[in-house]
Amino acid sequence: MTLAVRPNSTAARDVRSQLHPYTNPVAHEAQGPQIITRGDGVWVEDEDGKRYIEGLAGLWCTALGFSAEDRLARAAYDQMKALPFYHPFGHKAHVPGITLAERLLDMAPVPMSKVFFCSSGSEANDTALKLIRFYNNALGRPEKKKVISRVKAYHGVTLATASLTGLPFNHRDFDLPIPGVLHTTCPHHYRFAAPDETEEDFATRCADDLEAMIQAEGPDTIAAFFAEPVMGAGGVIVPPPTYFEKIQAVLRRHDILFVADEVICGFGRTGNPWGCQTFGLEPDMITVAKQMSSGYMPISALLLNEKIYAAVRDNAGRIGMLGHGYTYGGHPVSCAVALEALAIYAERDLFTHAATVGPHLQARLRTLADHPLVGEVRGVGLIAGVEIARDKANRQPFDPSQGAGLALGRFLHKHGVITRVIGETMAFSPPLIISMAEIDTMVDRVASALDDTLAWCRAEGLL
Ligand code: PMP
Repeated sequence: MTLAVRPNSTAARDVRSQLHPYTNPVAHEAQGPQIITRGDGVWVEDEDGKRYIEGLAGLWCTALGFSAEDRLARAAYDQMKALPFYHPFGHKAHVPGITLAERLLDMAPVPMSKVFFCSSGSEANDTALKLIRFYNNALGRPEKKKVISRVKAYHGVTLATASLTGLPFNHRDFDLPIPGVLHTTCPHHYRFAAPDETEEDFATRCADDLEAMIQAEGPDTIAAFFAEPVMGAGGVIVPPPTYFEKIQAVLRRHDILFVADEVICGFGRTGNPWGCQTFGLEPDMITVAKQMSSGYMPISALLLNEKIYAAVRDNAGRIGMLGHGYTYGGHPVSCAVALEALAIYAERDLFTHAATVGPHLQARLRTLADHPLVGEVRGVGLIAGVEIARDKANRQPFDPSQGAGLALGRFLHKHGVITRVIGETMAFSPPLIISMAEIDTMVDRVASALDDTLAWCRAEGLL
């Protein structure tokens, strides 16, 4: 990492030219960027030649890691040569889009009727929000429009999807959430359960809270509920076993649509092809992105079931058309790369590999649970979170102003691990191709970073 920005360096050019997402601009001006120059399997290298194990698969997306994959490069090249752009507006179509839509419908965890392509997870969730309105207008229920997501949810950053997101950074100073978006209890047992509350009781309470919110607002005003199977960017939160069963019963009782955000969990992350299968979800709509193309080309999609499609079709037919669509939605080059990525996953049986090495990641990380700083280790398949605590016995977190999370981030960097420390939770979501030996290397390095953080906390008098 460039700690001081040398004049005329690449880092200086970056500081002068780019506004970085999810970055503190003041710190960035002082320290400059870490410039990643190449990748190799689960490893990436920065401009100083230092190698890091990429514990988050970029942004939870590079299922195939960071090596040049000739087949994917070829798929993009061939599609560029054959037809570099086309779109599905106004009755047009292209073959990679048709084939990818068929493939997604074949793979879907519950019967789905149609696929609407976009380029990002935010766009897919935004499209879901718009079709929910369109659907209820079609059914003559203009008052049934509010949507519920959860505290610590992550569903995107457009005005509407940042509103669905349940994180203060995404709301504060953006004047969000917009009206009509509500946040119910987050199913984070470790953090939000009462001291003696079992997982089962906590799951019941979460469902009761949802029921109470629906009753307070009026069931006829609530259109949909959004949920990630495992909450990712909110801190890798795995719900208690019976949580979704209880939540779905509430939704069915009040005729509320269920949107499963599979942007992180889809395509093998949780040890099954879909997070919906890991947790028994039966959604009306599913959003996918990220691993659909191993993150190599921007592409996302909304899958909708026949009930929603039928109402949307009737409404759009009546008013003349569906007035929604993105220039780059279902871009043919992205579709071609996604199709090839899915073919590679199938040929290499990558989801089975993830299901096989996933328990090793979980077991190895759980060996850290005895560390004086580790409050909880949680996860399923190849997604995991390790939460640190100042007072382990009482589950007391550090005060964010004490900087323990930032220190942990610095020590992970020193030991050559890239991950994200969300609040005080280290998130792990490595490329699905990761081997047992690479998992061992990663966890050993994380253990060293924790030891260094412990020493730092003691030196700072925080413990
Ligand atoms: N949903 C989930 C579960 C996500 O994790 C993300 C991105 N991290 C999004 C939606 C938004 O996707 P994008 O950044 O592609 O807009």
